Amino acid sequence: MADPHWRDQGRCTTVGPDVFFVRTRAKAADAIAVCERCPVLLECAETVEASRITSGVHAGVWFGDSAATSGSTVARARQELKALIDDLKSVTHG
Ligand code: SF4
Repeated sequence: MADPHWRDQGRCTTVGPDVFFVRTRAKAADAIAVCERCPVLLECAETVEASRITSGVHAGVWFGDSAATSGSTVARARQELKALIDDLKSVTHG
């Protein structure tokens, strides 16, 4: 079972929220780079998958801007997230 305190290990705990909540995908590059080297990326991705998040960068995926997120943007983000989880699990479990 995942460590219930995994969030404390997230690299985003040392970065301001303004980096993660940006209006465009292009501006999300800095946050995505933070997530790519996060030690709890899989835990984060699985938690986000089970959530109804519709904005910001989570687990290296940009979900959109809260003021203007479209359904297709969120759908694309969820597909990207699922692919990430599959990749991470294949690396972890072989
Ligand atoms: S993957 Fe990104 S959003 Fe998730 S805990 Fe790590 S740094 Fe934070």
